[in-house]
Amino acid sequence: TQRLKLGLSKTRDVLGKKLLGVFGGGKIDEDLYEELESVLLTSDVGVAATMHLLENVRDKVSLRGLKDGAELKTALTDSLVELIKPLEVPLDTSNHQPFVIMMVGVNGAGKTTSIGKLAKYFQQQGKSVMLAAGDTFRAAAKEQLMEWGKRNNVTVIAQQSGDSAAVCYDAIQSAIARKIDIVLADTAGRLPTQLNLMEEIKKVKRVIDKALPGAPHEVMLVLDATIGQNAINQVKAFDDALGLTGLVLTKLDGTAKGGVICAIVKERPVALRFIGVGESIDDLRPFTAKEYVEALLD
Ligand code: GDP
Repeated sequence: TQRLKLGLSKTRDVLGKKLLGVFGGGKIDEDLYEELESVLLTSDVGVAATMHLLENVRDKVSLRGLKDGAELKTALTDSLVELIKPLEVPLDTSNHQPFVIMMVGVNGAGKTTSIGKLAKYFQQQGKSVMLAAGDTFRAAAKEQLMEWGKRNNVTVIAQQSGDSAAVCYDAIQSAIARKIDIVLADTAGRLPTQLNLMEEIKKVKRVIDKALPGAPHEVMLVLDATIGQNAINQVKAFDDALGLTGLVLTKLDGTAKGGVICAIVKERPVALRFIGVGESIDDLRPFTAKEYVEALLD
């Protein structure tokens, strides 16, 4: 929790400072609610989630007979946890072997880094892992993945030439033969507006299903938290194209936009499997709503 708190310190600093005025503001009245509303709206929470939270906080205040601004804090904490709880759906990989995870996202979101972190995470759970170097566009991507593979001591399937779909197909064949538990398939970064590349990634998904019917078992979008509200459009576009089953929200340590989780749950609630709170291999954590909110507000 200490590490998470540290990782979320930017959001906590900004949000916390703004909320000090609200929580320290004496008696609960309309002015205080207005103040709370403007804090939430300026913290990437989004309009729909802000309205939902305010209503929920008001209900709690009257239900619990709260009078003092300081008591608003627990009401807000509880409301936030309730709001984002639906995103807390841990990834269960036990139903398939190999369990194939296809990683997608825009360039620089943290795909390759997250794959490295996930490789360690799964190994720590006693699972065998294989990486597929499916980002065949970016020159350094393969080397970067090999590096993560070396660090974690896991096999990386790569090709000299060939496309993403072929690399993923190969990797799955190999994972089946070697009875590997988890395949993490990297793919090239792309913007949802690059329609030809969006068609290409749909093809990669179809080829993965050919290699192992039913796969990929997880289509995971890696999202950069520093883009704030723009993250919503990315979730929608990738979800429409591929049918997302999970999210990784990265770089929460580098931004004060941690409130964006509230907007995600209102606009397109895809399970938030992991959050990235730093560049090192241990800075990836399964998302839990309570832990997250407490790290923000405590
Ligand atoms: P890709 O293009 O999506 O594969 O992105 P990379 O994995 O290469 O990551 C891009 C940059 O973001 C690298 O410098 C990473 O170290 C950095 N990065 C990734 N995840 C995090 C995170 O959770 N926190 C921070 N601070 N940096 C991150």
